[in-house]
Amino acid sequence: MTETAQSVTAEIPAFSELGLHASVLAAVESLGYETPSPIQAETIPALVEGRDVIGLAQTGTGKTAAFALPVLSHLAESGRALDGPFALVLTPTRELALQVAEAFTAYATNLDDFSVLPIYGGQSYGPQLAGLKRGAQVVVGTPGRIIDHLKKGSLKLSSLEHLVLDEADEMLKMGFAEDIEEIFKQTGDSRQVALFSATMPSSIHRITGKYLNNPKEVRVASKSQTGSNIRQRFFMVQHSHKLDALTRILEVEQYDGIIMFVRTKQATEELAEKLRARGFKASAINGDIPQQARERTVEMLREGKIDILVATDVAARGLDVERISLVVNFDIPHDTESYVHRIGRTGRAGRSGEAILFITPREQRLLGSIERATKQKVEQLVMPSVEELTNTRVEKFTKRIDDVLASTELTELATIIEQYELSRNVPATDIAAALASIVLDGNSLQAEPMPVPGKGRERDGGRDSGPAGRDGARRERTPRSREGMVTYRLAVGRNERIQPGSIVGAIANEGGITSKQIGHIDIRSNHTLVDLPQDLDPSVLRKLQYTEIQGRPIDIRPDNGRPGSSSGRTFTKKRNFDKQPGAGKSFRGDRRSGGNKRFSEDRFGSDRPRDRY
Ligand code: AMP
Repeated sequence: MTETAQSVTAEIPAFSELGLHASVLAAVESLGYETPSPIQAETIPALVEGRDVIGLAQTGTGKTAAFALPVLSHLAESGRALDGPFALVLTPTRELALQVAEAFTAYATNLDDFSVLPIYGGQSYGPQLAGLKRGAQVVVGTPGRIIDHLKKGSLKLSSLEHLVLDEADEMLKMGFAEDIEEIFKQTGDSRQVALFSATMPSSIHRITGKYLNNPKEVRVASKSQTGSNIRQRFFMVQHSHKLDALTRILEVEQYDGIIMFVRTKQATEELAEKLRARGFKASAINGDIPQQARERTVEMLREGKIDILVATDVAARGLDVERISLVVNFDIPHDTESYVHRIGRTGRAGRSGEAILFITPREQRLLGSIERATKQKVEQLVMPSVEELTNTRVEKFTKRIDDVLASTELTELATIIEQYELSRNVPATDIAAALASIVLDGNSLQAEPMPVPGKGRERDGGRDSGPAGRDGARRERTPRSREGMVTYRLAVGRNERIQPGSIVGAIANEGGITSKQIGHIDIRSNHTLVDLPQDLDPSVLRKLQYTEIQGRPIDIRPDNGRPGSSSGRTFTKKRNFDKQPGAGKSFRGDRRSGGNKRFSEDRFGSDRPRDRY
């Protein structure tokens, strides 16, 4: 039995009102989380009370903290000695297992002797057996390997108090249904269950109906709509390159006042400081800054003393400054409703406004939710070229000269230059160029290309301070893609006898793009990596979601560097379609995590409930 799903639209409470243990609250505070995300606000109190919960949520909504904080709170209260783990979290992939384990560690900083153990396929049993022997309060693992340990007797679930299923729909798609049922059967009736899933297919309903006890079902919904006077654009970028991308965009964008949103209080200060260092007039506001000081900062924006306000959602609540012509979502918000509130800070008093959203490849799926919530298309922002940037800089510099010539009395300075010209026999243009160089103070008018991901430079620029250095982008690995390209992963590979020609044919024909737009192709045993342009229209991906090659859905998605097979054949289209040395090494991931068991039934939002992430 399931209680009717609740839409999260009510006023957000404070973390301190959710019933969490003081030690957990202190950790959340030190991470700079200002308020619970909507999914946290609804699920945490129910979990703290001991209820089973079903949360409809995906990456980016704050779902990890939604289940981790109540588990840790309970652990802090009970503080008992353990005969086996206190909590078990099941995840579909080892990457997610590691991230969840990291989050637990960050949230448990104030708990004595806390230990969390990630367990996944592909890793040798030795360290896992040793870890289990030492005893961990929380085990996070992929179902296949957890079952292996249960069979070996190295893991016992008799004293388990919490069972969490993270990304349950993904686990079922990967063929873990039987393993999950077996795990449920090995836990006592009194364990509390939290199940998180992006979608609710019937296979999940079957499991929740069978194993959950009167669960509370929560989903994040949004009712709001934006005015059509706001143009929305997005730019896809790795987290570590957001600051570079932002400064480039700001150089060419026309704007008056700007508000920029980040996730944490610390990130407001950090980003404002980095922008100031790059010559922008920016200040931060967040919930820690006293109301009066916040008002003074807003007043400075209103009066044009600063141009950029970097804020958290809480600090910007109700903000009404006519001058704001651009809203930048530096970090994507946790839910569509926050997005709608944020961009509503521009386009006031009947004016038009602009909204720019930075999105990491992993967050791409959230775009569809935003488009539905705002009933408007979010266009792809085209990054200004090096030439455009240089031209803009030259134009702005020229204008400064024009302005000074038009408004300032220069006779006295002109005499000095004249004397210099005569005494040194140097042409006036050379003297002017030397003076321009002094004015520019080491800055060049000639723009440089964006740094290639992975080549160092400000690896954590503007990063929010999520648990243990995690961020919205979830520790994406440095992409292998070439500049201007993004790597996508297709769930077909050498096992399906895929040829580069069939990849090019399928993507070009079904996606409606030219073969020239398709870059490097890397065929692995059970998947293929393909480079496509960074500015690819999202509609192309939507068109490709049901595409099949050799009767297999290709399940195209941005490659987030998930560990997979260690080598494969790589091709540079049109030049080298031959077999490369090193092909044929075997896949070393979790034993069930091969791409060919997956289906693309809900890619890019087709099967998702409306208006939520
Ligand atoms: P998740 O949906 O669990 O993948 O979380 C997405 C990101 O949001 C992670 O970087 C978290 O550190 C961050 N996060 C989670 N809860 C909050 C919160 N209440 N306030 C700010 N950031 C949060």
